[in-house]
Amino acid sequence: MLRRSIYKSPAQLRSMVEPGLITAAALDAVRALVAPGVTTIELDAAASAVITGRGARSNFQLVRGYRHTICASINEQVVHGIPGDRALEAGDIVSIDCGAEFAGWNGDSAVTFVLDDPTRPELVAERRELSRVTEGSLWAGIASLASAANVADVGAAVQGYIEDQPGTYGILREYVGHGIGRKMHESPSVFNYRVSDPGPEVRPGLVLAIEPMVVAGSDATFVEDDDWTVSTVDGSVGSHWEHSVAVHDGGIWVLTAPDGGAAGLAQFGVVPAPIQ
Ligand code: MG
Ligand code: MG
Repeated sequence: MLRRSIYKSPAQLRSMVEPGLITAAALDAVRALVAPGVTTIELDAAASAVITGRGARSNFQLVRGYRHTICASINEQVVHGIPGDRALEAGDIVSIDCGAEFAGWNGDSAVTFVLDDPTRPELVAERRELSRVTEGSLWAGIASLASAANVADVGAAVQGYIEDQPGTYGILREYVGHGIGRKMHESPSVFNYRVSDPGPEVRPGLVLAIEPMVVAGSDATFVEDDDWTVSTVDGSVGSHWEHSVAVHDGGIWVLTAPDGGAAGLAQFGVVPAPIQ
């Protein structure tokens, strides 16, 4: 069987810049709307308008059986929540996952929001801390690519970051990141924890969607009756952050961040380099 290389050419990496930026813009549109009373299907519509308005299409709708542009996962839902009539409430923690395909290439990114609730400041603070730790672990994983030998180094960096934080968290083990390119989901798997298999070599042409899914309790999850939504068994809340990241001759570049990841990587002393 002829197997396509997981490594992209410089020209192919350049083709992945625009779908990444479109994905980022779709999530920006969601961010602008997030507030109590807004339904998740309204967030879906906002993301869809950006993606189609820029001549792209939703790659989530290319996933068999999925009809929406985003996944919206609220509180004990960690990933793969289906948009619908549920309205966001004060104090909710909601993760939004979104992707775009443009000219045959894909972007994939996720963010978590915590809605303010002045009546429950401790709950809001705990949830914001969970989101901070999750996002920080994503940036630690991305930063590791700048000097990693193999893909497994990413998971070690993600897990190491989380273990260094105050508090105890669970990392979902049954759901992982992935290569991305012509298809949204490509080889290799990108684990968010230490694994013994080193995985493929990290070298120019590698593009990974890194996406830690972190919970405030046990990592045990189940799929709800809608056949999609992944929720925690113990009811603890979850956070999900994701970026698509390219390794190229000049360094690394976060395709789904307009600044290439400069702001998020600064804490790790890594400066992203634009793809030439
Ligand atoms: Mg995603
Ligand atoms: Mg993904």
